[in-house]
Amino acid sequence: MTLRFLGTGTSQGVPVVGCQCQICQSDDPKDHRLRSSILLETDLCTLLVDAGPDLRHQLLRAEIDHLDAVFLTHEHNDHCNGLDDLRPLIFRQKKAMPIYGESRVLGQIKNRFAYAFAKNPYPGAPRLELCELEIPGILDISDIKAEIFHVLHGKLPVAGIRIGDLAYITDAHTIPEESTRYLENLDVLIINCLRHEKHYSHMNLEEVLELVENFKPKMTYLTHISHQLSLHSELLADLPQHVRPAYDGLSLTF
Ligand SMILES: [Zn+2]
Ligand SMILES: [Zn+2]
Ligand SMILES: [Zn+2]
Repeated sequence: MTLRFLGTGTSQGVPVVGCQCQICQSDDPKDHRLRSSILLETDLCTLLVDAGPDLRHQLLRAEIDHLDAVFLTHEHNDHCNGLDDLRPLIFRQKKAMPIYGESRVLGQIKNRFAYAFAKNPYPGAPRLELCELEIPGILDISDIKAEIFHVLHGKLPVAGIRIGDLAYITDAHTIPEESTRYLENLDVLIINCLRHEKHYSHMNLEEVLELVENFKPKMTYLTHISHQLSLHSELLADLPQHVRPAYDGLSLTF
């Protein structure tokens, strides 16, 4: 299976509009981060995890012409506001796009994209097929079998994903006791790391390094990064070898 990072930035993206800081002004393309999203690909299936406001650009940049389904980790705008950008793929594939998520998240999608769920939607509206998932539970799509568990993003339960010995946790501050087992014996942990300062709903670098110390994944990749962390090149130099910043376009095979 291949995992591609379509975006590794926090909710405002990096650079932040109007910001003159060193990171936002960096020429290194690895410091340019679209909103966080990944693509999971097997021979049989292509699954998108999260569909934020950069989705059109991400689909074009990664040359994606087919998607089997979308999984939404939670309802924040930076993870679902791009659902309308699925329309070209829905038109091409001539069927509704399955959108997986827990009931709270899907309820929000129905409200925010009410035009897509109207009795008689206009012909160009996206056809979204909402597929409710219990958490903890299994996301079972073609040959992708993922364990879905809850992590806490402030007080909001957000979905984490474990496939084999890889876990993806995009927005979290705390791992509740009942979910710690999903972080054990990992080859790869992908985890949000917002900045150096503490934050109520995201982990900072210190908290990520503590988590890595506790669970000892073989490799850890940081994502959902803000312009208040460090330059990509500084992270490479400062972090231990088994902790690396992810960047847009990075691809992992596992
Ligand atoms: Zn987010
Ligand atoms: Zn900045
Ligand atoms: Zn969030």
